Amino acid sequence: MSDIDSRIQHIQANLNVLAPDRTVKIMAVTKTRSREEGTLALAAGAALIGENRVQESLAKWVPKADVPLHFIGHLQTNKVKYAIRHFDAIDSIDSEKLATAIDDCLHAIRYPNRFPVMLQVNGGRESSKSGFEPDAATLRRVLMRAEEWQHLIFTGIMAVFPRPTDNSFGETQRIRHLMKEIGELWRMCQLEGYPWAPLGDLSMGMTHDYEWAVEAGATMIRIGSGIFGSPPIVEESREANKEGLI
Ligand SMILES: *Cc1c(COP(=O)(O)O)cnc(C)c1O
Repeated sequence: MSDIDSRIQHIQANLNVLAPDRTVKIMAVTKTRSREEGTLALAAGAALIGENRVQESLAKWVPKADVPLHFIGHLQTNKVKYAIRHFDAIDSIDSEKLATAIDDCLHAIRYPNRFPVMLQVNGGRESSKSGFEPDAATLRRVLMRAEEWQHLIFTGIMAVFPRPTDNSFGETQRIRHLMKEIGELWRMCQLEGYPWAPLGDLSMGMTHDYEWAVEAGATMIRIGSGIFGSPPIVEESREANKEGLI
């Protein structure tokens, strides 16, 4: 059994304990990882692949074949036209402007139905992260517009959270509380039943915090290092530099 196999089995075993009565999808986040590693993760039980950079994903997953590929990074409007052809879903709609840009692009190519997207919510209101504010009024305002974006369907909420600054009980409780709040907001929006926004999925939780996220209702967790191991530090900063230059 490969490391990737055993790490996914370990996560799956945890999920079976945390959420015995429902399925939580594992998204393998393959940024800085190879196509081969991603393919292994899918074979080992990951349901989806997540990528956070358009260029990197275009180079890696061409031809895309049968891989269920989601975009989870910040999408610049000038890359929308590539993204809608390449990805099966864009989980990181972080502004109304971006939703409009995607809708316009889909309209221009006469996209025959509605393209699956998710609203990104900034769970800890961090200025360093993008996403909608985690409050009911904001989400309601955006979801009311779902109908107006005629080529989009909002299949869920993807939430991002602060990294705990330490392992203290207080810090753990703070993040768990933020996750609980998002779980409640998600259920509320789901119940309110906005047209073209079924919001079936709540994507939250990464390697270090997915257990709390599942407790708070996540239906999808996004795991990178917990599947593939820690990336070499040097590679990561080189990637970041490269991204800055594009
Ligand atoms: C990288 C990334 C993840 C996975 O992070 P890990 O800590 O490696 O599990 C999840 N979500 C987003 C948006 C990411 O960019």
